[in-house]
Amino acid sequence: MQSSSCPEYKLLQSELMTKLETLMWLATAELDALRNEHYETFMSLESQFELVFSAKQNALAVFRKHLTEHRCQPGAIAAA
Ligand SMILES: [Zn+2]
Repeated sequence: MQSSSCPEYKLLQSELMTKLETLMWLATAELDALRNEHYETFMSLESQFELVFSAKQNALAVFRKHLTEHRCQPGAIAAA
């Protein structure tokens, strides 16, 4: 209902989705590297994965804080 009324919610949601998409890409690339026994590539991707995972955790915390404090998404309060 009010899902598009808060620009900050949209921005935070978009940042979280971008990080999750990056993690999916990295996980797929890591799987390929491991399957093909390209260990240097695997370890390099793993380092990137850890950095993006940490950034994703931060983005999620900010997103949940916004949902809790701003209450612009009534349906999301329980999940946050
Ligand atoms: Zn909001």
